[in-house]
Order: sequence, then C-alpha cells, then structure tokens
Amino acid sequence: MYNELLKVLNAHGVTLVAVSKTHPAERILELYQKGQRAFGENRVQEMVEKAANLPDDIEWHLIGHLQTNKVRYIAPFVHLIHSVDSLRLLEEIDKQGAKHNRILDCLLQFHIASEETKYGLDEDEAADLLTSDAFAAMRHVRICGVMGMASFTEDTHMIRQEFQALKAIYENLKIHFFPDAPHFREISMGMSSDWEIAMEEGSTIVRIGSLLFGTRQ
Ligand SMILES: *Cc1c(COP(=O)(O)O)cnc(C)c1O
Repeated sequence: MYNELLKVLNAHGVTLVAVSKTHPAERILELYQKGQRAFGENRVQEMVEKAANLPDDIEWHLIGHLQTNKVRYIAPFVHLIHSVDSLRLLEEIDKQGAKHNRILDCLLQFHIASEETKYGLDEDEAADLLTSDAFAAMRHVRICGVMGMASFTEDTHMIRQEFQALKAIYENLKIHFFPDAPHFREISMGMSSDWEIAMEEGSTIVRIGSLLFGTRQ
C-alpha cells in the first residue's frame, strides 16, 4: 500500500504524514526503512515516548488537540503542530519556542465539519488571532497554513464541499495576512477515507493512518 500511495501523492506534490497513533515503534520503523520520515501522533505523551526511542531524523507532527500545559513536552523536537485553535495555545507555543531557541511551525485548525465535537477555529476567530497585538509580538512561531477534518460521512459531495471551504479559507488568509510569506503554503486535509478528494481539492499534506497501518483498537 505504502509504495502505491506514495507514488500518487508524489505525482501531485502532496506530503504524506503517516499517522502512527496507537501503533508500536516497530511498525513505525517498517515505514522508516522504506524512507518515510513524517509521522503523526495525536497524543503528546505517546509522541514523546516514541520520539525518545526512534531515529532522530523522524519529523513528528502533532495532529490532535493540544492542551496548553503539554506544549512544553513537545517543543524541543516537534516538526509541525497541525492543531492550533486558540490564541492562548499559540502564546504558549511561542513561549516554549523561545525557551528552546526554536521557531515552531504551526497550522491553524479550522472547523469545517458538520459535527459539533470537532475542534477548530472559524474565520472570524482566526482573523482576531492574526490581528492581535499578542500575535504581532510573537517571534518563535511561524504559521505555515491551515488544517481541517471533514465530516465523518459517506456523502462525498459534502466532504468535497468541506475541503473546498478549507481551501477558500486558506486563500483568504493568504491574501489578507500572508501575502509575502512563502512559508504560508500548507493545507493539511485528507485522511484514509477521503485523501483522494482532499488531493483533488488542493491538499498539500494528507494525514493517513489506517490505510497504512490497519485499523486501530
Ligand atoms: C487519526 C487521525 C488521522 C488519520 O486517520 P485515518 O482515518 O486512520 O487515516 C488524521 N488526522 C487526525 C487529526 C487524526 O486524529
């Protein structure tokens, strides 16, 4: 599966984040040996433990909800935080970035699904964040784009519309807040069940777990 998937994604210039949550280090190493370097985890503790026991050149992506009090554990090594959904969280990421003398790359997570439970900003909240004095003062975070999850549904038309909405949000933010920022270029959307739709709608990063590793417990 891995090689076929990678071939398609490479042809479209899309980055694969292999979502390894719940799977042991050996499974990560199997893909690592095939050349995969970007891995995604949704829990801080699990990511920290795996990172300590796996090769240093793995790029760890935090894709799940991040609590402010846990930022400090991942700040030394995290490659990209996909799930920034508040100014308060971003302030803590900036603070921890400063502590470790790193600039931490982040994506703003948007709520594009119909379900109530999913985390994420709406466009107004993002605009408030990006125009705040607090954000203007940050020196140790870099906003590299947006992330979103589509609804959990069989309705591919709906999924497509949600991805289109995220792409539109990205374009809007690019024009208004990041016109001269080449690093603002990522749209993280698409999982095992909907990555092809996401790719068609302009995804630059897909986060794929079960398709690569099998179903989780
Ligand atoms: C688990 C997870 C994924 C991967 O899900 P699969 O359906 O297994 O591909 C992607 N994104 C987030 C935020 C996740 O929590």
